[in-house]
Amino acid sequence: MGTVGAGLVDCHCHLSAPDFDHDLDDVLEKAKKANVMALVVVAEHSGEFEKIMQLSERYRGFVLPCLGVHPVQGLSPQDQRSVTLKDLDVALPIIENYKDRLLAIGEVGLDFSPRFAGTDEQKEEQRQVLIRQVQLAKRLNLPLGADKVLLHAFDGRPSVAMEGVKAGYFFSVPPSVVRSGQKQKLVRQLPLTSICLETDSPVLGPEKQVRNEPQNIAISAECIAQVKGISVEEVMEATTQNALKLFPKLQHLLHK
Ligand SMILES: [Zn+2]
Repeated sequence: MGTVGAGLVDCHCHLSAPDFDHDLDDVLEKAKKANVMALVVVAEHSGEFEKIMQLSERYRGFVLPCLGVHPVQGLSPQDQRSVTLKDLDVALPIIENYKDRLLAIGEVGLDFSPRFAGTDEQKEEQRQVLIRQVQLAKRLNLPLGADKVLLHAFDGRPSVAMEGVKAGYFFSVPPSVVRSGQKQKLVRQLPLTSICLETDSPVLGPEKQVRNEPQNIAISAECIAQVKGISVEEVMEATTQNALKLFPKLQHLLHK
């Protein structure tokens, strides 16, 4: 297919996080050296959209942008709150404006943790925000919609995961898999054809409380190989092929 040895795809990371403000060039350089060929950068709120689009311009063909509205909003842990339709209203025209340059819609979802969504109204508003973004993704023919779905850092039961496998969803595995028996169990059950790599930088690294970086993606690959008893090369090859299937525009947006 011509992608063998081309490199790895970090299917989900937050490079617009302030954690990377002082040394992002360095982080990206290290990622390249670690054989990463593409970084799928996701948004959580409209306030970071421009930053992400600028990043994707500056690192054209390497940083691939996704815009979306996360179920939990707030710049710092102290002011985190459940998303509202107002948040979406601000975001939609910007997403629309950049639609031709986007790889996907993300990060979106539901978070019903009581501290964020304690009331039925909050839960319903989260559902509405998600549903409208699913519709948007379908209309723009971008992943997330009903047939191309990436479940990132999935923490549910393997039996639930297998429903996702049946539906053709992809699961991306972060480096924190090395310290999570639950994630390793999931990896053991998932077919290789459903697995992608991600880092979720700056979080979900191999070591708790230490900033995660895209260069750590190899740690995910090595752990998957070990758990499944196959070679790292096989994992790299399969996950990159999967990423290309999941993100139809990936090949096109990559450096040729
Ligand atoms: Zn994330």
